Amino acid sequence: MIVIGKSIEEKRIAAKEFYAKNREKIKARHNEYRLKNREKLNAKKKEHYLKNREKMIEQGRQRRKTPEYKEYVKSSKFKESNRRYTASIRPKLVAELGGKCVKCGFNDIRALQIDHINGGGSKEVRKRGTTEMYRFYLKNKEEAIKKLQILCANCNWIKKVIMHEVG
Ligand SMILES: [Zn+2]
Repeated sequence: MIVIGKSIEEKRIAAKEFYAKNREKIKARHNEYRLKNREKLNAKKKEHYLKNREKMIEQGRQRRKTPEYKEYVKSSKFKESNRRYTASIRPKLVAELGGKCVKCGFNDIRALQIDHINGGGSKEVRKRGTTEMYRFYLKNKEEAIKKLQILCANCNWIKKVIMHEVG
């Protein structure tokens, strides 16, 4: 028997197999496309958001109320994606604040810390959470510059000793 044409189900399976086999290649191509067209895509995204803002906010609100979402929040997958997101916006805030230790000029981000100039950092982290705090200061840059500074781990520790928080 000769089969001409495939059923939708067969096509779907074939597409899935093709994707599984070429996952890396397809991802690389998508990434390349996104990089090349970043500005165009961002503009489109923004336009779509502005047009549908109310609807999207409401959709998000409804989604967060579902039991599925509440379960998801507790999952390690959520925590991991949250951690990655936080790690991705931290350098932006560090850069916004000058990108180096204000005391000694050290600039390796791995040992740079975001310091609350007049204290209250851990209180704010407890209240807002790290991610929300970074997001807040990235949106309110003037306030960030007023309240925050970059210190390297050494200078931050020395400040803590001087402020009698440790040592
Ligand atoms: Zn320093």
